Amino acid sequence: MPYRGRIAPSPTGLLHIGHACTFWTAYQRALAHDGTLVFRNEDLDPQRSKAEFATAMIEDLRWLGIRWQEGPDVGGPFAPYEQSRRRSFYLEAWRKLRDSGFIYPCRCSRKDLTLAATAPNEGDDEPMYPGTCRHRINEAPQYESPLGVNWRFRVPDGEAISFEDARHGHQSYVAGDDFGDFVIWRRDDVPAYQLAVVVDDEAMRITEVVRGADLLKSTARQLLLIRALGHREHSYYHCDLVRDESGIRLAKRHDALSLRALREQGLTPAQALGLCPPE
Ligand SMILES: [Zn+2]
Repeated sequence: MPYRGRIAPSPTGLLHIGHACTFWTAYQRALAHDGTLVFRNEDLDPQRSKAEFATAMIEDLRWLGIRWQEGPDVGGPFAPYEQSRRRSFYLEAWRKLRDSGFIYPCRCSRKDLTLAATAPNEGDDEPMYPGTCRHRINEAPQYESPLGVNWRFRVPDGEAISFEDARHGHQSYVAGDDFGDFVIWRRDDVPAYQLAVVVDDEAMRITEVVRGADLLKSTARQLLLIRALGHREHSYYHCDLVRDESGIRLAKRHDALSLRALREQGLTPAQALGLCPPE
C-alpha cells in the first residue's frame, strides 16, 4: 500500500517548536517513503478553535518548509480536511459502536468524576473512570443520537493492548489498569478526539501515524476503537517531546517558543528546526 502520512494540528493557539519538530518528522517520513502527506485541521472543539489560528498554522508550517499534497487549502480526494465539517462520519461510527454494544451513556457529572478520580496517571490527560455507568450499556440502543450524555467505550479489563512503535519499540498497555473507559462523544455534543482521529485516519487511508510521544497511551485506546470498528491498523512513529529548560514539555502557553515568535526574532527555518531533539 502506498505510504500516506498526516499532520493534524489543532487551531487552539499558535504552533510551537514542539509541534514543528513532530510535523517536520512526519514530513520527512512521507518524503523518505515517496508518499503522500495529508494536512488535517483538527478544529473539532468549537469553543477553543479559532479561524485566525487555523490560518496561522498553515502559514507557519509553510514557512518552515513543510509541503502537503492534500489539505483544507489545497483540497484532495478525501475532503473535507477540517474535522468540524466531518460530523456525519463520526455519527456513523457512533451508531456502529452503539449497535455493536461497545459504548454506553455516562451520566456522571463533572463533580462525580472529580470526587471519584484517583491521582491522574503521569503524562496522561484523562483520569481513570471508575465505571459507575457501565451497567447502562443496556440503555444504549434507546438513544437515537449521542446528545445529552457522555459516551464511553467499555474497555476489555485485563487485556494487554500491544503495538510496535517505529521510534520507541514494543509498547503494551493493560486495559482497565493503564486506562479506563474513555469518552468517545462529549456531553456538549462534540465527538471526542479519540473517535475523530480513528475515523479520519481510516477514511483518509492513512498508513503511518506520526505524532508526539505524549499520545503513546492514546494509541492503545485508539487500537481498541480501530478493532471495534473493523478498521485497518496503521504503523506508528511517536516522536520524542521537546521540553523547555526546566524539563517541562512545551504547551501552547509557551508563547516565546511559538513558531511565530521565533520567526519574528529573526530565526531561519533551519535554525528553528535546530531546536528539535535529535532523532
Ligand atoms: Zn458515568
